[in-house]
Amino acid sequence: MHEPPGAPPRPSSTTIARVLARDRTCTFPGCTVAAFRCDVDHVVPPDPRAPGTDELVAAGNLIALCRHHHVVRARTGWRPALTAAGEVRWTAPSGHVYARARAQASGAPVSRSYASR
Ligand SMILES: [Zn+2]
Repeated sequence: MHEPPGAPPRPSSTTIARVLARDRTCTFPGCTVAAFRCDVDHVVPPDPRAPGTDELVAAGNLIALCRHHHVVRARTGWRPALTAAGEVRWTAPSGHVYARARAQASGAPVSRSYASR
């Protein structure tokens, strides 16, 4: 590990697992690349001039993005926003907004544990 001093904090493996489980696929509109094949990218990128905070690497500031759309975002200026409901709203360079709803479970229950009372 060769992190420069003042490097932004990195998300924990638990946080990454939460983001991938929430998003299920790349969050770019229409993309179906499985989240486990994606990068985890910041919604609000770290400011290289300011020390990072833990909020930067909280699940609420992270989305799954495949390598291709990671590059598209960086080069073309698409901007994501993540709502509290897990919807990712992408603003295109043209100003149009495309909402990507929170991924739904595939039909199987996420958890089989039930309250005992
Ligand atoms: Zn993608």
